[in-house]
Amino acid sequence: MGAPRVRCPTCQREVVWVAESTWRPFCSERCRMVDLGAWFAGERAIPGEEMAEPEDPPPDQPRN
Ligand SMILES: [Zn+2]
Repeated sequence: MGAPRVRCPTCQREVVWVAESTWRPFCSERCRMVDLGAWFAGERAIPGEEMAEPEDPPPDQPRN
């Protein structure tokens, strides 16, 4: 049968697991970077040290 298929962890698109699929299990470099970015973002957060998030006003809605 054909090559196994996996789902891109980022966008859930089907990816054929072959050598040509350079970014497998991701469908593209972009999805790979998105996943890495999320991973690094989580890595930067220090567990056990929760900081209160300041409520910033939306940039496109200036106060007043
Ligand atoms: Zn994807």
